[in-house]
Amino acid sequence: MNFEDLKLAPAIVKAVREHGYETPTAIQAEAIPMVLDGHDLLGGAQTGTGKTAAFVLPMLHKLSMGQPVKNKFGGNGIRALVLTPTRELAAQVEESVRVYGKFLELTSTVIFGGVGMNPQISKVKKGVDILVATPGRLLDLLQQGVLDLGQVQMLVLDEADRMLDMGFIHDVKKVLAVVPRDKQSLLFSATFSDEIRDLAATLLKNPQSVQVTPRNTTVQRITQVIHPVGRGKKKALLAHIIQEQNWSQVLVFTRTKFGANNVAEFLTKNGIHAMALHGNKSQTARTEALGGFKSGDIRALVATDIAARGIDIDDLPHVVNYDIPNVSEDYVHRIGRTGRAGADGAAVNLVCMD
Ligand code: AMP
Repeated sequence: MNFEDLKLAPAIVKAVREHGYETPTAIQAEAIPMVLDGHDLLGGAQTGTGKTAAFVLPMLHKLSMGQPVKNKFGGNGIRALVLTPTRELAAQVEESVRVYGKFLELTSTVIFGGVGMNPQISKVKKGVDILVATPGRLLDLLQQGVLDLGQVQMLVLDEADRMLDMGFIHDVKKVLAVVPRDKQSLLFSATFSDEIRDLAATLLKNPQSVQVTPRNTTVQRITQVIHPVGRGKKKALLAHIIQEQNWSQVLVFTRTKFGANNVAEFLTKNGIHAMALHGNKSQTARTEALGGFKSGDIRALVATDIAARGIDIDDLPHVVNYDIPNVSEDYVHRIGRTGRAGADGAAVNLVCMD
């Protein structure tokens, strides 16, 4: 199977090829034809599987074949809406829309909390074809009456389980109440609790479903190591491993924001350029940390789970669980930052009495 077989517009295939993808991933091969056929979709997949392109590519295709519509402000109506749990994921999805849609005329924007509202208001009033948003800020704008979702033809809930974990269910439901009933809906989730099934049952009409290999299997590509260590020696051990093994880059997970700051400070003092990424940081600081890490300027990014969710860094070779997560699923999510799209990765766990 190659991208041409999926019957996507040539402009989309060209962008995908330029981006360096040769063959569709399993979820892309399965989901893209279903979405192009107009089916609602229930997707069992986490980040790392290529799920973003699995919905973005057919979305771009369908919108590029359709006609622009007007919103009630006379601007360009939003025809596709993607909801994601975090700002970082929203930004990444919209980035993918831009990358894969670079040869199309479609417009997109992203809105999330923690940054000024006015630029977002003027963008959504003027209108875009594709809007990627976190539920909280979207609802804010809706309640202010500056946003018209009456033209939505395609709705995607990305990482729906995370959205519920983060307490967004009410916001999501309020958004669902104002989008047209007649639309195509896609729901992606890594796990399927009763709550997710309920949400899927209300949203999706005769959905087709795709389930890609559970992460556990993919994780076989990731070497997992445990170092038993006293609590007081963790920081020194971490610095030692990074230097001894000459790691170019590492993503370190801590349980708390305080811990993230503390570890980042220690590493920096010991000659390893590090930055902390967590919810107490301003959006500017978060963007800066992520940008510095992606460009390679920052050697160690020290993050809490929520901040790191959905971060997409190509070829990240090392992940360290400085604190072991409380929930097993978080462990899988964390180490899923490495060993992406076929690359090998290593996960190191510092285990102390805690
Ligand atoms: P996602 O699951 O959407 O977060 O994507 C995980 C990673 O796989 C991202 O770094 C994508 O750029 C990459 N990716 C997505 N589709 C493909 C593909 N067909 N071939 C190679 N890499 C891909």
